[in-house]
Amino acid sequence: MKAQPQASHFVNGAYVEDTSGTPIDVIYPATGEVIAKVYAATPAMVDQALASAKAAQGEWAAMSGTERGRVLRRAADIIRARNRDLSVLETLDTGKPLQETLVADATSGADALEYFGGLAGALTGEHIQLGGGDFVYTVREALGVCVGIGAWNYPTQIACWKASPALACGNAMVFKPSETTPLGALKVAEILHEAGLPAGVFNVVQGMGEVGASLVTDPRVAKVSLTGSVPTGQKVYAAAAAEMKHVTMELGGKSPMIVFDDADIEDAVGGAILGNFYSSGQVCSNGTRVFVQKGIKEAFLARLKARVEAAVIGDPLDEATNFGPLVSEGQLGIVQRYIDKGVAEGARLVTGGGRVDREGFYLWPTVLADVTDDMTVAREEIFGPVMSVLEFETEEEVIRRANDTAYGLSGGVFTGNLTRAHRVVAALQAGTCWINTYNLAPVEAPFGGTKMSGVGRENSKAAIEYYSQLKSVYVAMGPVDAPF
Ligand code: NAD
Repeated sequence: MKAQPQASHFVNGAYVEDTSGTPIDVIYPATGEVIAKVYAATPAMVDQALASAKAAQGEWAAMSGTERGRVLRRAADIIRARNRDLSVLETLDTGKPLQETLVADATSGADALEYFGGLAGALTGEHIQLGGGDFVYTVREALGVCVGIGAWNYPTQIACWKASPALACGNAMVFKPSETTPLGALKVAEILHEAGLPAGVFNVVQGMGEVGASLVTDPRVAKVSLTGSVPTGQKVYAAAAAEMKHVTMELGGKSPMIVFDDADIEDAVGGAILGNFYSSGQVCSNGTRVFVQKGIKEAFLARLKARVEAAVIGDPLDEATNFGPLVSEGQLGIVQRYIDKGVAEGARLVTGGGRVDREGFYLWPTVLADVTDDMTVAREEIFGPVMSVLEFETEEEVIRRANDTAYGLSGGVFTGNLTRAHRVVAALQAGTCWINTYNLAPVEAPFGGTKMSGVGRENSKAAIEYYSQLKSVYVAMGPVDAPF
């Protein structure tokens, strides 16, 4: 099989196999072909991974931040040197076009390793001066063993975004990739160890939700970071709460992108394409509710239709292809049902709408217009290449409608009016906003959601707060003043 890993799991510094677990076929979404087979972790394998993480964590935390950071930065260099091979693997795992994976997956993972590798040596507590010469100093401590659980849309990036801050702070991690895309995280583990990571500090175990659930409830685990859907997030957050574990929840969205009539239409159309059709629309922060001001709506739709119909749909391994299949037959079915429902509820099909006539899980990039706020396609996360275009008249109206959702991951505004741009993003209930662009997520900037879209932030210095805790140490400089 063309993408068969050395073994299913990476535990205590080495690949390990255990064929007694449930078999999981890895399917290349462009053809439906089985390209690898892994086995879900048995309870014994989960135990082994947690035990090795627990055993390795103390020594890792005792190293200086600079030493830990050096390992992460070395791993970043190896990833960059092997970017093409890793990108081909990511394409096989997810079906995303190589044109994308070459620039957005392993490279984004390397950015995180490099950024947090650089930060590791700069992590400090603080000195707080008190009256009478007394003072407090704070120590930034690792949390212990962290669990990372990934979604299938960015398997390599998600593994790196979670591992990098966790390891920089001195934690160990057990990572469970999505069962749909199990391959990329194994490579991350392999490369981290090649870069000098001590055995047990980063482990990968495969499996479905039940393996994730068994990791979350294990008493050895101090923190859980999940990237996934809201229903899974609710279950994982509740399970973690039972033992007061720390969490980061990177969940779904139904984000608004607002286009005012003074916007540059080509830029706005470009932003809407980036924010709806990159990775075949399987991106959590997508601006799937595109609100366009009345006066320019038809002009916007005309340019949008022309540009969307120029997408190059084909073999994802061909670098000319810029639109690939969905990750699985199941996801394709879900998205198709949403499109059908949208049309049945009165939306106008501008382009797309069905399956591409070729093997694999391809769906035409789809634009629905005349969408109203109450339609299912405007309320629920679809997680596929479906853009809903809604019309609005005033700024006050569009802000109210944009915020009328349980989600709060991101939002965008396109306008030529600088003060309006800032006024509108200030009013948007969202963790990340873009002005005159969409969906850029550099490691230097915090990323995460508000409302049902999640808890905590990944990337940037902010992520450190979610992978460490502060100990305050009060130091008395005078005699103890007791009442008796
Ligand atoms: P999912 O919720 O079905 O699964 C996510 C992960 O959780 C998988 O690894 C799965 O095996 C695991 N899991 C399932 N049930 C579990 C349980 N009870 N306990 C522990 N783990 C469990 O999500 P998906 O379909 O893989 O990914 C798509 C979703 O992820 C979308 O909603 C998307 O918006 C979201 N997402 C969010 C971000 C972000 O950063 N905010 C990024 C990518 C994807």
